[in-house]
Amino acid sequence: MAEPHEGPAEQERRPAELRSALARVEERVAGACEAAGRDREAVTLIVVTKFWPASDVRLLAGLGVRHVAENRDQEAAAKAAACADLPLSWHFVGQLQTNKARSVVEYADYVHSVDRPRLVKALSAAAEQRGGREVAALVQVALEKEGEGGGGAARGGAAPEEVRGLAEEIMRAPGLRFAGLMTVAPLEGAYAGRPAAAFERVAELSRSLRVGAPAATMVSAGMSADLEEAIAAGATHVRVGSAVLGVRPPLR
Ligand SMILES: *Cc1c(COP(=O)(O)O)cnc(C)c1O
Repeated sequence: MAEPHEGPAEQERRPAELRSALARVEERVAGACEAAGRDREAVTLIVVTKFWPASDVRLLAGLGVRHVAENRDQEAAAKAAACADLPLSWHFVGQLQTNKARSVVEYADYVHSVDRPRLVKALSAAAEQRGGREVAALVQVALEKEGEGGGGAARGGAAPEEVRGLAEEIMRAPGLRFAGLMTVAPLEGAYAGRPAAAFERVAELSRSLRVGAPAATMVSAGMSADLEEAIAAGATHVRVGSAVLGVRPPLR
């Protein structure tokens, strides 16, 4: 696998590039917290490092990043192994096949993309078998699936009406801890182009679930394009990729 960044000029440029991009994102997060009357500490920045090499993860850790996310198991497993010496928490945010559950629980502290009962069972069995710490599991809400109740083949996420049932399954599942909800602003359906309304809806779902699960406080919402709207709606975790690392590097 060729590293996308090679040569001495690049080696000097990349740390400065990441430092300034991270500072700009930090400013946006702080500004959004201030505008919403929230403490900066109420929002955790997760940097999504998919497509980018382990060397970038290492640079980010040196710049103070403590939470990173990936969306493909193979890539994530390799990077987590290459960065095992760093004080990082790993978040898995991509669509997940049940046969990858065993691999994912080896490095992931958080799985944001739980969207069906079979995946709860697979993650629970894998976490149990591995032993040790519990895996924090979030239910991914796909607002565009409203009313489809489990349909919506390929896209990740559970329909809003499925969320409570899945949360309850996670709460019963050994090895897992129900941590909250995750969402991506929908590109289709009633919430298309309305990220603020989408994030408000998910925050409301979160509040109603916390009546029965007070510890499930995580609301993972907001990316490079819409982190301000997410923070205004109460997101506790924003997942930012391109605004820190740049657009996707050339394919190998
Ligand atoms: C890639 C990705 C992000 C980050 O998106 P950017 O627009 O690059 O900030 C956040 N969440 C998920 C689930 C992703 O796959």
